[in-house]
Amino acid sequence: MSAALAPSLVDDHSAVEPEITDGFHLVIDALKLNDITTIYGVPGIPITDLGRLAQAAGMRVISFRHEQHAGNAAAIAGFLTQKPGICLTVSAPGFLNGLTALANATTNCFPMILISGSSEREIVDLQQGDYEEMDQLAIAKPLCKAAFRVLHAADIGIAVARAIRAAVSGRPGGVYLDLPAKLFSQTMDAEAGAKSLVKVIDAAPAQLPAPDAVKRALDVLRQAKRPLIVLGKGAAYAQADDAIRDLVERSGIPYVPMSMAKGLLPDTHAQSAGAARSLVLKDADVVLLVGARLNWLLSHGKGKTWGAPGSKKFIQIDIEPREMDSNVEIVAPVVGDIASCVAALLDGMGKDWAAPPAAWTDAIQAKRDENLAKMANKLRKNAAPMDFHGALGALKTIIAERPDAILVNEGANTLDLARGIIDMHKPRKRLDVGTWGIMGIGMGYAIAAAVETGHPVLAVEGDSAFGFSGMEVETICRYELPICIVVFNNNGIYRGTDTDPTGRDPATTVFVRDARYDRMMEAFGGVGVSVTTPDELSQAVNKAMDSGRPTLINAVIDPQAGTESGNIGSLNPQSTVRKKPA
Ligand code: ADP
Ligand code: MG
Repeated sequence: MSAALAPSLVDDHSAVEPEITDGFHLVIDALKLNDITTIYGVPGIPITDLGRLAQAAGMRVISFRHEQHAGNAAAIAGFLTQKPGICLTVSAPGFLNGLTALANATTNCFPMILISGSSEREIVDLQQGDYEEMDQLAIAKPLCKAAFRVLHAADIGIAVARAIRAAVSGRPGGVYLDLPAKLFSQTMDAEAGAKSLVKVIDAAPAQLPAPDAVKRALDVLRQAKRPLIVLGKGAAYAQADDAIRDLVERSGIPYVPMSMAKGLLPDTHAQSAGAARSLVLKDADVVLLVGARLNWLLSHGKGKTWGAPGSKKFIQIDIEPREMDSNVEIVAPVVGDIASCVAALLDGMGKDWAAPPAAWTDAIQAKRDENLAKMANKLRKNAAPMDFHGALGALKTIIAERPDAILVNEGANTLDLARGIIDMHKPRKRLDVGTWGIMGIGMGYAIAAAVETGHPVLAVEGDSAFGFSGMEVETICRYELPICIVVFNNNGIYRGTDTDPTGRDPATTVFVRDARYDRMMEAFGGVGVSVTTPDELSQAVNKAMDSGRPTLINAVIDPQAGTESGNIGSLNPQSTVRKKPA
């Protein structure tokens, strides 16, 4: 008998003969068999009963207000746990909302499964105009790693197994599972149903690097005069924290963490070159990339950022062979999973590995001290209204005192400055806009971080960024999650001082002046506070983190303080032609 059909777990009116199971129960049983315990979603036709029955079967089902945020939650749950996060949506529009998150998960290499109900195949394929008609499978395919549709209840077990394996093996990513409405109520013999389920064995098999590749990498690294290690979020995902620390410390090589790799080693570590990033990228002669792609976030491995053309040799550890040579030549590709690759490098380094030349490490140390000293003064400002540095100085102290808290961060200036200013002290504690640099991940990530880890979450949000997922404060209050949101309110996007040259409307980049985001949280029974100084901010955040109560702090930031597009202004074209206002 299917566990989910135990008489005590079904309502009387839906009671069925115990020896029969159906699509609903088989989906739930298949997920549970594979130790998937949480679903993020939005109920509706045809998956309402699936969520209800999953909850009755003991799964955690977190219902959101919009599918994109449920999807983002599932994606980051995947990053944090190495198990695919599950997002459950209705058909057509709900599916499309979830698809944005699925595409984002795939881009970021986070394992996730989007499960969407869909309308009747016969009608959809003949385009006869069904309720929420859409060929979802075809639309999902190019935007994710794999996409499957199930037509027979007896195939649910194998489909869930395929989806899990596709999501977590090799380079992790998003998988779409299309479940037409009719499938859910298809019944079959319970015993045959139970037998049709598959428990995935070794879902993400170790992939050992070739010994030759390891030797080649070590040969290059050994010759380096100015070596550098770049740790990316793949390294954070791999949960090979001790081995990575060993690699850095035994090699003596300075390292820079990419944004979500911060805290893999504490940002205060003596070998961290984060505060001398420009110098090390420009001057290093050998760069070892560990789970970091040479995409736009690393200026594609070339150009001014990387110094003279041809001045660098790249070694790259990645599980995806096709990542090699994607932007520049990789002289020593090491293809395999990070835990196995790093272990093999450590093995090959032996006991007599020579530390990098002191000229290199001393130069980095000097630059780092200089930059940190410059920054320290700015962080101590206790002015009203606050600028970004004053506010972030307060939050930096809080995270140092509460290293287990998870920091979620999005915005423009709010993102760029927080990334540089707030030190992280433990792995996988910083969750942010990732590979696409998008806005809108905030509340989804915050909710999943709280649900998956039980640790307090501090979400530092630009006022614009917060707006994309702001309604989920109701979800936070409903589940009483220990999330403290700080909205850096500078009245607009980038800054709040633009005007419409014609004088007719608000400028395109400004919001309602002096808005009180804190009252949104109060509307749902959470705590709302508005603050104007770093001291007040500090007190309010500490109180929220101590109490664990859902809190939103409206932090009033000087509208003059931001810069257009934060650090990536160069990607934001500006017309040099300015016509007179109409
Ligand atoms: P960042 O933005 O932090 O630089 P990226 O997302 O660009 O990080 O790069 C992450 C890389 O890590 C991807 O190329 C991905 O294939 C790789 N990766 C993810 N998980 C693993 C793993 N377990 N072992 C090896 N490589 C991995
Ligand atoms: Mg703003």
